[in-house]
Amino acid sequence: MFTYRYQCAECALEWELRRAHTERDAPAVCPTCRKPTGKRVFTPTRNLFYPPFTGQYTAGELARAIAPDTPEEREVWDKYG
Ligand SMILES: [Zn+2]
Repeated sequence: MFTYRYQCAECALEWELRRAHTERDAPAVCPTCRKPTGKRVFTPTRNLFYPPFTGQYTAGELARAIAPDTPEEREVWDKYG
């Protein structure tokens, strides 16, 4: 499960939702309007670690992409988790 951010097309509310990777682009039901008017929006902080829209990374590739592979990266990784 991943956390995605959605914005309602009717009331402009933004909220986050945990759903399966395969459901990320499906319309999300707005907590306020109770209608499937939510569209996924970019979350810049998370984009640092994986590109959410491409869909071209497997879970294994993703794990390698975000795992530290130098001592310096390891240090930062351990410090900030
Ligand atoms: Zn709404």
